[in-house]
Amino acid sequence: MLSNLATRDVETLIHPYTNLAAFREAGPLVLERGHGVWVYDTDGRPYLEGMAGLWCTALGYSNDELVEAAREQMARLPFSHIFSGRSHDPAIELAETIKELVPVPASKVFFTSSGSEANDTQVKLAWYYNNALGRPKKKKIIGRVKGYHGVTVASASMTGLAANHADWDLPLPGFLHAACPHHYRGAHPGESEEEYSRRLADELDAMIEREGPDTVAAFIAEPVMGAGGAIVPPKGYFAAIQPVLARHDVRLIADEVICGFGRLGSWFGSETLGIQANSLSFAKALTSAYMPLGGVTVDEPLYQAMLDQSRKIGTFGHGTTYSAHPVASAVALKTIEIYKRDRIIEGAAAKAPHFLRRLEALADHPIVGEARGLGLIGGLEIVADKASKRQYEPKAGVAARCVAFAQEEGLIVRFLAGDRVAVCPPLVIREDEIDTLFDRLGTALDRTQAWIR
Ligand code: PLP
Repeated sequence: MLSNLATRDVETLIHPYTNLAAFREAGPLVLERGHGVWVYDTDGRPYLEGMAGLWCTALGYSNDELVEAAREQMARLPFSHIFSGRSHDPAIELAETIKELVPVPASKVFFTSSGSEANDTQVKLAWYYNNALGRPKKKKIIGRVKGYHGVTVASASMTGLAANHADWDLPLPGFLHAACPHHYRGAHPGESEEEYSRRLADELDAMIEREGPDTVAAFIAEPVMGAGGAIVPPKGYFAAIQPVLARHDVRLIADEVICGFGRLGSWFGSETLGIQANSLSFAKALTSAYMPLGGVTVDEPLYQAMLDQSRKIGTFGHGTTYSAHPVASAVALKTIEIYKRDRIIEGAAAKAPHFLRRLEALADHPIVGEARGLGLIGGLEIVADKASKRQYEPKAGVAARCVAFAQEEGLIVRFLAGDRVAVCPPLVIREDEIDTLFDRLGTALDRTQAWIR
């Protein structure tokens, strides 16, 4: 029997990323409050939030300082846009702070309200840039199979997942997808991670040559793939592909929407994985998700091209009402202050070995083919046969069942396409809570194995 709130939900709300047909039977999990790494449903039942919401609430659920930062800004200047030369101090201070933090040459920062908008902006800027430089053919964008960059028309086109394309008339023409860098699934028998990385770089090179380097504008990549399966790239991957991109004058965009602000134990995933991007996209942990805010960095050559465009055509015709929203910006500033003051990112790095040991131990479970992570993010893949890596029929919904069992055990994790389960807890999780997380996930796997039989 669905509770009253649940019934009202089913009758009124469209839920993103939900099987709408199955949902009519199952109903929602209605959450009421959160504290630390725990969230509580309307019956007061606690769940360990093993996904930090959607890879985002890095500081957990009850940070009073963030609440106070929002309240103060709300009371002072709850809204101002930054169109047409208007500005406000939280936006200025935040842009300065981000410029100092990012491991890319950033001349300016452009703010959005979400990761999708940030990546949409990246596409538009790449096009605008090449028009400014008189290279109107250089417009194609390369994403990767299983990459996730959001849901707007352009960012969904860069995304490499079937659910974002099928019957959505996407990807748009001019969006290509290189291979997913997943050693467990993609490597030839006996191929080392480094050899696999070199092969992927050769394949990317061949793709760009085939398309014509003068038609390819940018390549976008998450340091560790999130929604596509929590997939860690093989050793040497970015070192192998970056010279290919540089040779063909293809801009590298690092989608740091998940990995930015500490997830891999450094400020940005690019630092952990040796990525030297031309630009970053960020969102999520920038505000610990207490307010919606994202953005992109703009390097000096791009900025100069944008200036030239303005001299030629006038207005820079891009931006949304909530770009650099003052309350979101104030919360972001406080979040970054806390990351620095409380050494949250160093703390995440210190906890990572324990997290990864517990995660990787699950690879011994009879239905787990791969369990791998980096920093405080990880994924495991459920298989029907460990030796052949054969999977269950997608229709069987085995990973979804495992995630449902986890929820019954008081743990929130996320199932992803390809029978994968993702884990991505708040960065403030304690070691004993990491143990609780993996104990409960282990129980959920046991129950899944029993259910399969
Ligand atoms: N990029 C990455 C790597 C993401 O994981 C996401 C969301 O999960 C996005 C972009 C899109 O962000 P948003 O959902 O805020 O639009």
